Amino acid sequence: MNFDTIIVGAGNAGLSAALTLGRSRRRGLVLDGGPPRNVPAAHAHNFFTRDGTPPAELLRLGREQLQPYDGVEIRAALAQTARAVPGGFALELVEGTAVTARTLLLAPGVVDVLLAIPGFRELWGRGVYHSPYCHGREVRDQPLALYGRGALGFHLAVLLHHWAPGPVLCTDGPAELDAAQLATLGQLGIRVLETPVAALEPAPAGGLTVAFADESRLAVAAVFARVPQQQRTDLAAQLGCAFTDDGIYIQTTWYGPDQRARRVRRRRPDQPVPAGGSRGRGRHGRGGPAQ
Ligand SMILES: Cc1cc2nc3c(=O)[nH]c(=O)nc-3n(C[C@H](O)[C@H](O)[C@H](O)COP(=O)(O)OP(=O)(O)OC[C@H]3O[C@@H](n4cnc5c(N)ncnc54)[C@H](O)[C@@H]3O)c2cc1C
Repeated sequence: MNFDTIIVGAGNAGLSAALTLGRSRRRGLVLDGGPPRNVPAAHAHNFFTRDGTPPAELLRLGREQLQPYDGVEIRAALAQTARAVPGGFALELVEGTAVTARTLLLAPGVVDVLLAIPGFRELWGRGVYHSPYCHGREVRDQPLALYGRGALGFHLAVLLHHWAPGPVLCTDGPAELDAAQLATLGQLGIRVLETPVAALEPAPAGGLTVAFADESRLAVAAVFARVPQQQRTDLAAQLGCAFTDDGIYIQTTWYGPDQRARRVRRRRPDQPVPAGGSRGRGRHGRGGPAQ
């Protein structure tokens, strides 16, 4: 075997694991296949000791602190395939090299499946956000739009109601809310707008505008929307890992109230592989709970 452990992904999770590996005097290879999920964001918040640090700076610091641990190599390479071999795992990298290790740690992150609304992609992380915990404080007490319908929209609206006075829940069509949910939103001062959304546009003076299909417009400081997520790679599926019911996350081990670990059943080879890992794509697909 070439290494004790191969870590796929050199984001926050992969570099953090690499630190433990290096300190444990293990030989490790960290594969860096490209930018992390939060690459559009100017600053990362809610990160212990590093609140407000640019995401790229977090990764630079992570790499710098790995330098004393010469057992750990970081390589710019994308893992293409993974398979179990006797005594470990073999990975094929995009450039054609094969690497082997006794253990494999998958830290490739997730991908946000962005909505097909004009402007959504361009403003993602720069005015359109997924999490108030990451970006809510920066737009506190300013007009906000929340995007979503049904249970997802309701949850988002309840979560954000205290960040700003009178946020508007844009459901982009029928709200799919029952009378009790509408009453709760009314009590929280949240207006529900069912008018279809045509586009999101950056505003010259900052913030952005929600342009509706009926040509009405809503100027806001930010839009919060939960979008579906999927696994960044299909390496886990290639290895036959089991996934959570929503198809987004790899099932590892379950700890019951008695704290005894129970192995999760692996997917049988004849069971279908989750397509990219995610269900519920599309404009109103189910957003994942991740921050
Ligand atoms: C716009 C935005 C803003 C955010 N802001 C915050 C914030 O303020 N605070 C906060 O705590 N969180 C924030 N998040 C969430 C944060 O991005 C994630 O929690 C964090 O990036 C997860 O780290 P990770 O290492 O699991 O995944 P990632 O950071 O996505 O890193 C995974 C890495 O693995 C690499 N990779 C994938 N597949 C392969 C492969 N096959 N071979 C080799 N490498 C591979 C990827 O290229 C990537 O570099 C934000 C997310 C978004 C989208």
